[in-house]
This record gives sequence, structure tokens and C-alpha cells, in this order.
Amino acid sequence: MKKYYYRFRLWLSFWEPNMPLQKYQELEIKAGYKGEKGQPLVCYKCGCKDFKIGDSYKEEGIGLVEYEELCQKCGNRVGYWSYGNWQI
Ligand SMILES: [Zn+2]
Repeated sequence: MKKYYYRFRLWLSFWEPNMPLQKYQELEIKAGYKGEKGQPLVCYKCGCKDFKIGDSYKEEGIGLVEYEELCQKCGNRVGYWSYGNWQI
């Protein structure tokens, strides 16, 4: 549970009743946690800005199609990239 603490706290600071995920992502971008395309910029857990690729999935003939982005320092998962898009 501790892993999600910072993200949860971020949630609370933004929280509005019935807020759609899309809106939440906009707020994350405004707060500087994510870039314009939804790519992670800062680790929610430790504030580190260096990331590495964790588990990835390759498809024959295409190459890398999905991967998770992990914090270099603490290993927290900061984002998930799938077929050209960052997931919310
Ligand atoms: Zn971290």
C-alpha cells in the first residue's frame, strides 16, 4: 500500500466528486507530474526524475509495443506505455 501513498495523496489534493480520469490526468499534467502526452516526469514516491524500462512486451515484426516505466531510484512504477500512448 505504501507504494501508492504519494499518488493517493495527489489524488486527494485534486479530488472532486465524480471527477473523470481524463480530468485527473489534466491535473497531473498541470502539477508537473506528467508531460503533455501523459508521459511520466517525476516519481510520485520519491521525486526522482530518472526512469528505466521495466517489464516490456515485444511483438514480432513491430518491436517494442508495451512497457512499464520504473523509477531509477526506488523502482516505483511511474507509467505504462502501450502502442504509442501513455496510459492514465
Ligand atoms: Zn522513485
